[in-house]
Amino acid sequence: MFPVKENLLKVLGELPEGIRLVAISKYHPADYIMSAYEEGQRVFGESHEQELRQKHDELPKDIEWHFIGHLQTNKVKYIVPYITMIQSVDSLKLLREIEKQAAKSGRVVKVLLELHIAKETTKYGLTPDALRQLLSDGDWRQLSHVRICGLMMMASNVDDEQQIAAEFETGRRLFEEVKQQYFADDEAFCERSWGMSADYPIAVKHGSTMVRIGTDIFGPRVY
Ligand SMILES: *Cc1c(COP(=O)(O)O)cnc(C)c1O
Repeated sequence: MFPVKENLLKVLGELPEGIRLVAISKYHPADYIMSAYEEGQRVFGESHEQELRQKHDELPKDIEWHFIGHLQTNKVKYIVPYITMIQSVDSLKLLREIEKQAAKSGRVVKVLLELHIAKETTKYGLTPDALRQLLSDGDWRQLSHVRICGLMMMASNVDDEQQIAAEFETGRRLFEEVKQQYFADDEAFCERSWGMSADYPIAVKHGSTMVRIGTDIFGPRVY
């Protein structure tokens, strides 16, 4: 079996104090998650609703699940009853659906707004201007069952460390900008979720408060 425990301890040992680890367990079996759980890890991230549902049913109930993948509005109702945080919110439509389902469940769901800063062409995430637009529209203020806790981003998948660092810095500046403008009195708005296996040592030097690490803990994914 893959040395999950050793890898987890190694990653935790490299994280500066105060930076939280979300162990990304997508495509990995429940016994891998249990290995990390036995070492005290409680926060796990998944990117597919059905896989998450299965793992949630089967695994200890004190696990904090974070959703990190693309989320269709029609799937929101399945995860809201138990999800702790949805890190990949990139539209008002999705925020409204989370609000609706969370109200039904009598819960408040934490969310991060996903940024699209990397050069890769993807449909997901908010460009800096789209983020500003969403926040200035103001409709999100009415959502009492959604708590916006910060931003999430992925850097470009490149070898150029300076480019990666510059992208995280762009994320950090945007965070400071919107924090000041919209969340100055809101302590909950404090998270910058950046850094994956390939780039977390860079991310923690450039503003990350939360890293999302899969491969370095659980090994390569078999799709
Ligand atoms: C899969 C995934 C990760 C983890 O990636 P690794 O390279 O395996 O550490 C982090 N964030 C998101 C959004 C992901 O989809």
